[in-house]
Amino acid sequence: MTSFDPTADYADIRAGVARVCAEFPGAYWRDLDARRAYPKDFVDALIREGYLAAMIPEKFGGSGLNLTAAAVILEEIHRSGCNAAACHAQMYTMGTVLRHGSEAQKAAYLPGIADGSLRLQAFGVTEPTSGTDTLALKTTARRDGDEYVINGQKIWTSRVEHSDLMVLLARTTPREEAKSKTDGLSVFLIDLRGQVGNGIDIRPIRTMINHATTEVFFDNLRIPADCLVGEEGKGFRYILSGMNSERILIAAECIGDAKWFLKTGADYARERVVFGAPIGVNQGVQFPLARAHAHLMAAEAIVYRAAAMYDAGLNPGVEANTAKLLASEASWEAGEACMQTHGGFAFAEEYDVERKWREARLYQIAPISTNLILCHIAEQVLGLPKSYGPGRGQ
Ligand SMILES: Cc1cc2nc3c(=O)[nH]c(=O)nc-3n(C[C@H](O)[C@H](O)[C@H](O)COP(=O)(O)OP(=O)(O)OC[C@H]3O[C@@H](n4cnc5c(N)ncnc54)[C@H](O)[C@@H]3O)c2cc1C
Repeated sequence: MTSFDPTADYADIRAGVARVCAEFPGAYWRDLDARRAYPKDFVDALIREGYLAAMIPEKFGGSGLNLTAAAVILEEIHRSGCNAAACHAQMYTMGTVLRHGSEAQKAAYLPGIADGSLRLQAFGVTEPTSGTDTLALKTTARRDGDEYVINGQKIWTSRVEHSDLMVLLARTTPREEAKSKTDGLSVFLIDLRGQVGNGIDIRPIRTMINHATTEVFFDNLRIPADCLVGEEGKGFRYILSGMNSERILIAAECIGDAKWFLKTGADYARERVVFGAPIGVNQGVQFPLARAHAHLMAAEAIVYRAAAMYDAGLNPGVEANTAKLLASEASWEAGEACMQTHGGFAFAEEYDVERKWREARLYQIAPISTNLILCHIAEQVLGLPKSYGPGRGQ
């Protein structure tokens, strides 16, 4: 494992991403936010520059970069004041196809994802009644000849209206008949083109941020059997194996947000004059920003350590989860400090602070909530009884 200097390493990538992001200033995001509209031009620009294909191997048309590089890309997007939530899932969802998909699936889809003609943005795991308890999900996929028939409902399936493909987790064996507690779920790669209204119904959910999230209903949706990714019944393991990269990439976005908040807050503290002096001369204004910066540095170190471990082929479950926990808290702390520094102007939309603050809050809840990370650390590191999932109480 090599050491990581976040200011020097990947300087070219940072500069390139910053150049793209400069084309999409606060006014662009404010307008989309007001309309709850999808940042299509921004996503197109990232695809055009190849950033969303960073982790796709070169033989399929991507750049073949590692997770650290992908984390740098997402961090830089957020540091620039933009938001990668409209497209970040492509980076980690694609890993499921890469690691567990057949050669035929990879050949059929990865080149299109790499050149931008196909979008793999949607990831359907969460359901309204099961929540974090993924093994309790109720959506079923029943084999019928050369097809599977899907029935059930997903919630919080983000970007599905802007995606050609969707990774879906569904139950193929009833829970009581499965060989083990974690068997019986399967992953499918569904081609959504032409399917909406034909067994799939999508209903947008209006949320406090502009996130293009939806409910998806499956009513006897028929998909070819070769949509199955990997082995039937092993889907829970495949989804779990993708979670470390998801946690690390989201954590990198939080690091970017924290840097944006601290720069924006410090700039304002230098410029805003009250009682005849810039408010930044007061330690009451400086200290929350400085403390948030200290926590940002600690979080950043663990984010890139987890990424380096992942790239070294290790399984950094505790590190990836810790990175997400600390980075989401660091961005929130920085957001709070930035808000307070701005006083009443924090509430004015044109400063972008209230929008970024709303957006930053999500990452203490999704893709995994803080409590569940603490449960994981308590069990895995401290040896305390398991308080979630199979084997709870043991
Ligand atoms: C905007 C948005 C976008 C999303 N996008 C997607 C997506 O694209 N695809 C997808 O599949 N999902 C998506 N999600 C879902 C997200 O991953 C879940 O909301 C998140 O994992 C939390 O699950 P839940 O909402 O069901 O909470 P629940 O599981 O109902 O938990 C509620 C609260 O109880 C706590 N809790 C539960 N069990 C325990 C326990 N044993 N110990 C301690 N505390 C506990 C949790 O920490 C949480 O605070 C999205 C969610 C949001 C809000």
